[in-house]
Amino acid sequence: MKQIIPGLWEVDEIGDAVHAYIWEGKHGLTLIDTGMPTDVHAIIDAITAKGWALHNVRRIVVTHGDADHAGGAAKLKKATGAVVGCHSVEKILLEHPEKRVPSNLLIRPLFAMMRILPTYNTLPVTPDELYVDGQLLPEGFIVVHTPGHTPGHISLIHREKRLLIAGDALNNRGGKLQLPPAAFTPDRKNAERSVWKLAKKYGDDFDVAVFGHGPPILQNANHRIKAMVSQIFSTEV
Ligand SMILES: [Zn+2]
Repeated sequence: MKQIIPGLWEVDEIGDAVHAYIWEGKHGLTLIDTGMPTDVHAIIDAITAKGWALHNVRRIVVTHGDADHAGGAAKLKKATGAVVGCHSVEKILLEHPEKRVPSNLLIRPLFAMMRILPTYNTLPVTPDELYVDGQLLPEGFIVVHTPGHTPGHISLIHREKRLLIAGDALNNRGGKLQLPPAAFTPDRKNAERSVWKLAKKYGDDFDVAVFGHGPPILQNANHRIKAMVSQIFSTEV
């Protein structure tokens, strides 16, 4: 378990392909994203190795319904007894993971076949909490609806900690800020607008940013994201 800032841990026991995070709050733990379906045991082991009990996990926030973020949600909900929350629009993808299809028609058959593999076989989970844009969670996170990669994708902002948990609203693969992969981002225009929203509406509220993919940015993340947006829209943010 790797501390990013006081209160926020990256579950690095699942490797580096995708990230899951634990928020350590006054009233328990919040898991943000759940890795791939095959990451469940590594996450459970990491929690217990840290000296926490599984029932300390009170809430599981899923940024979106992809296999690498919602993959462990069903089993981790069962193992911890936590409530699972996602954006109201994303509910259908958590309950019917097979509805998530790549925007690129050519890779759809391959994607359908991959779903049979244990690594990608996301079990359906019924969310207990459905969020709306701007909602404040008890942990102090503001839910920011950042659609594009999926229709109900969310990012989280913690103003007091000056932290952005971006999910896949944008990636930082190889340390390079970029939009999520086109093949899995059916609404690219909205994905661009979502990054614009993070920069424009919340750009003064965070310095640190963590991502579903790629290393964290520990300072001036807001300026980096504003610069990215200025480039996309060819205008100053
Ligand atoms: Zn992802």
